Amino acid sequence: MEQIASEGLQTPVRYLKGVGEKRAEQLARLNVQTVGDLLMTLPLRYEDRRRLAESGSLKSGEWSTVAGTVTSCGWVRPRFGKGYFEVLLRDSTGIMRCRWFAAAWMKDQIRQGDRMVAFGKVSLRRGEAILTHPDFELVRDDEEEAAGRPSLHMGRIVPVYPLTEHLPQRVLRRIQWNAVQQYVPKVVDPLPRETLERWNLLPLREALMAAHYPESLGDAERGRHRLAFEEFLCIQLVLVARKIRSERYLLGIAHHPAGELRKRFVASLPFQLTNAQHRALEEIRADMGKPRPMHRLLQGDVGSGKTVVAACALLDAIECGSQGAIMAPTEILATQHFRTFSRYLAPLGISMKLLVGSLSESEKISARAATAEGRAQLVVGTHALIQDRVVFKRLGLVVIDEQHKFGVQQRGELYGKGQHPDVLVMSATPIPRTLAMTLYGDLDVSVMDELPAGRQAIVTRVVRASQLPKVYGFIRDQVGAGRQAYIVYPLVAESDLVDLKSAEEMYRQLQQTELAGLRLGLLHGQLRADEKDAVMQKFLAGALDVLVATTVIEVGVDVPNANVMLVENAEQFGLAQLHQLRGRIGRGAYKSYCVLESAGGSLDAWKRLKVMEETTDGFVIAEEDLKIRGMGNLLGGEQSGLPSLRIGDPLTDEKTLREARKEAFTLIEKDPTFTSPEYELLRQRARQLYRSAEAFVRVG
Ligand code: ADP
Ligand code: MG
Repeated sequence: MEQIASEGLQTPVRYLKGVGEKRAEQLARLNVQTVGDLLMTLPLRYEDRRRLAESGSLKSGEWSTVAGTVTSCGWVRPRFGKGYFEVLLRDSTGIMRCRWFAAAWMKDQIRQGDRMVAFGKVSLRRGEAILTHPDFELVRDDEEEAAGRPSLHMGRIVPVYPLTEHLPQRVLRRIQWNAVQQYVPKVVDPLPRETLERWNLLPLREALMAAHYPESLGDAERGRHRLAFEEFLCIQLVLVARKIRSERYLLGIAHHPAGELRKRFVASLPFQLTNAQHRALEEIRADMGKPRPMHRLLQGDVGSGKTVVAACALLDAIECGSQGAIMAPTEILATQHFRTFSRYLAPLGISMKLLVGSLSESEKISARAATAEGRAQLVVGTHALIQDRVVFKRLGLVVIDEQHKFGVQQRGELYGKGQHPDVLVMSATPIPRTLAMTLYGDLDVSVMDELPAGRQAIVTRVVRASQLPKVYGFIRDQVGAGRQAYIVYPLVAESDLVDLKSAEEMYRQLQQTELAGLRLGLLHGQLRADEKDAVMQKFLAGALDVLVATTVIEVGVDVPNANVMLVENAEQFGLAQLHQLRGRIGRGAYKSYCVLESAGGSLDAWKRLKVMEETTDGFVIAEEDLKIRGMGNLLGGEQSGLPSLRIGDPLTDEKTLREARKEAFTLIEKDPTFTSPEYELLRQRARQLYRSAEAFVRVG
């Protein structure tokens, strides 16, 4: 019975009434493949069409739903200003004007005599109501009305769904209705009854009915709440199961170092550790001392000094006879880490190996052998480290840098290696707590909320293209004073498709014009690894004055003498990304300058960039970015490791998320391996959310 029901939701939408090849393709653009996907695609909003506003009583500035008959329509060309398409709509109390600018296509859509429903913001001019760019629907008789049944589109609270090209609202509403009628009576609730009771949640069938065809707006909210809870619960089950398993059942290495190496290392540093660094190290030490694997996230803004903390932890592990590993998202970063750690740790007699794709085959073989035999005490590489053929003799601590590019899935691969090393994840993208809970709910968290003392403040300015010559002049001055600069572009090479500046083109151009006579270098992701490395080395050594680059320098690059960061076409970047870029400067003793050039563009883009002038707090910036651009953008889309939530939003549904997490702990307490048949449907849902069969890792 259960099997049948869940298979029903897996039915391709194509088999639904009213959905053929063409509609199925359109639905696929909305990320809907199956009936289950469709039912989980909730309305964006609802319109209460039980009582429509009457034209005579509309108020200026209010969002209203009106309905009437089209008495005339056509293109209007005023003497001043832009032309628009106008519809005169009559209801029992008068006439309203609906206007759409730049909408020539509408004239084929609407005819005199049509019945129309429109939703928009009202303005009153000379006693007449005008709705500019309202959402609208034509209400033609459909089969329901023809059969004397109540309409889907009128006289009720009506769902308004997200659309895609050529898929009209009324068609999608009809398709949803058919799906609800046909499948909702058959669905089986994955949530245990006790969970429903504990959190006062609607059962699945009622929730789906309420979310799509509510009797009241409160109803709709209760339905949505229940569905969001279920999504969050599935995700938290995966994370919490993993957390509890590693805390209680996995055998790890208890590291109890005397602390000699760490002491010598800290004494060799030209600075004192910050309180935040001390605190994080205490937490890490406590975890590493337990006979269970540590799974800890180290969050700290750019420049807060995470690398030093990681080095201390690695020394502790090495002192206990373990091997350490560092994984970075790119070769540039891995290579840079290798150099930093060589500088830090080689004086202590630690032997290290770099293991990246661009090494020659014989170098790789030798590095792998040193790793397998335990001769390499520290191995630095990209995430290729946890894949193929790399065997460690006694891996005790893995440090993962810039984690958000890895995701839950890859963390799973680590645990699957048969050993259970301590894991320290370092993230420089400060993210709001609730989002961290969704992404890193299996980890404990240390936050470093303090920058080392004596950091130079970075002056940030947003400028127009016309001011660039002055900025280039400023760069010349700074280089004259012995400093170095970064100039960042959105593209690697010229493109016919978009009108954006590219690193290659500007590198050539600047060399001949504004920055003639300076030593310029070019760095972007399409260079070979050894070419990238050579350029980076020259810049680091001061043999280049200006590095013209793409965002390959976004993370980790550390050249303290560089004090100017110019980003052109800055409107193309997310704020969190700009924050990372800005983190490349202000690392030394010199006053630093970040200039963001926005080429024309919208006022919104300009205002968004202005946030960068106002704050250097990564958390504030990340939150702004999230509000404006959404999670996928902040975390890098597909690779973000973010589960594919359709309903729940970690930012706005914070309370629901916390409750679901609590429930996950309760359920896992009852069944720590989460293997009971009772939970089969929940497990299935979780796998779908992670787009993977590996959401739950087995107990190793
Ligand atoms: P993050 O990785 O957190 O962005 P890093 O570890 O790269 O930061 O440190 C940034 C810079 O600050 C490095 O040059 C490092 O040597 C320096 N640094 C780290 N800790 C301190 C400290 N406690 N006091 C002064 N400088 C520090
Ligand atoms: Mg770093």
